[in-house]
Amino acid sequence: MARPSKYPIHPRQLVLQVLQNATTPLSAYNILKQLADCNIHAPMVVYRALEVLLKEKKIHKIKGLNEFIICRCEHQHDISLFTVCELCHKVNPLKDDSFVQYILALKARNINITQQANIELPIICDECQK
Ligand SMILES: [Zn+2]
Ligand SMILES: [Zn+2]
Repeated sequence: MARPSKYPIHPRQLVLQVLQNATTPLSAYNILKQLADCNIHAPMVVYRALEVLLKEKKIHKIKGLNEFIICRCEHQHDISLFTVCELCHKVNPLKDDSFVQYILALKARNINITQQANIELPIICDECQK
């Protein structure tokens, strides 16, 4: 018989829910804070969940912020372009086929892109410009 889980809902599912409800990217620490009510207090639990969700391509890591967002865009997940507002940290995917083609062309030239080609463009968003 399967060992009963310590958590009634899998932590990975909870982490995904937190990111689904977020309007800005969240740090692992912030996610952990939001899961205190669900009896999750160990940072490792959150880190492990994030690692799996990244592998499953359900979320993105915004490296410039060291924060995470849900993937809710139609794009080539491994080749993605984001705008990151320097002031409010709002992140938006930018659909750009020529960028995808460019990265694919680099790969065709045997340039070994080992990780996801995620480019983060620093911007000031419309709201922050007001
Ligand atoms: Zn994605
Ligand atoms: Zn902004």
